[in-house]
Amino acid sequence: MPHPLWSRIGGALVETLYPPLCLCCGAPGQGGMDLCPDCARELPLAGPACQRCARPLPAAAGPICGDCLRHPPAFDAARAALRYQWPVDTWIARFKFRGRLNHGRLLARLMAGQLLPGAQPPDCILPVPLHRHRLAQRGFNQAAELARPLAQALQVPLVPDAVRRTRATPPQQTLSAARRRHNLRGAFAVRAGFAPGHVLLVDDVMTTGSTLDELARRLKASGVRRVEVWVAARA
Ligand SMILES: [Zn+2]
Ligand SMILES: [Zn+2]
Repeated sequence: MPHPLWSRIGGALVETLYPPLCLCCGAPGQGGMDLCPDCARELPLAGPACQRCARPLPAAAGPICGDCLRHPPAFDAARAALRYQWPVDTWIARFKFRGRLNHGRLLARLMAGQLLPGAQPPDCILPVPLHRHRLAQRGFNQAAELARPLAQALQVPLVPDAVRRTRATPPQQTLSAARRRHNLRGAFAVRAGFAPGHVLLVDDVMTTGSTLDELARRLKASGVRRVEVWVAARA
């Protein structure tokens, strides 16, 4: 463990050698982030949304969307930092598929800024797991990269091995709702005896929410009482 002073000097040196540059336009970044003040103002922040599934809602709507009132998901609450629109969709694609970790760092900083204020600290944080084949292919789990700084900020443990993905599932967006549910059945296995009271699941994008729903269902079946979801972006 380097002395904190050395880490600070090291951090300052990195900033001098590689000053933060806006990932949108290349202008100098601000506050140590790879984002300039102009592009920060244009960011598609999440705005008013369903408290249960994080789907964007008109400001005048109730706290819960009609879908969640009719068919509540297995998770208790969900929050997104951003909308899945330009430039966020591009950042996520570069982060996930081209291993550009600086894009992940910026997304994590934006999640912290949007989601930490007023948050109820969970007992632990779980990144949505990747199947081991996909993890080997990619070299990192994007959800774990986003979850780690949040766990540090909340001072709660990050538990990356509490849930395993037992099957590789095809991308869920291309399938019908019924097909998605069928596909995901038995896709996750929770470690025996893992049952904290309050778990926070972290992922990069929520599209239909079916993966997070299935994961929350498995956790609840194992004895977890409350499951919350935080994502960088909501489609
Ligand atoms: Zn910019
Ligand atoms: Zn909803």
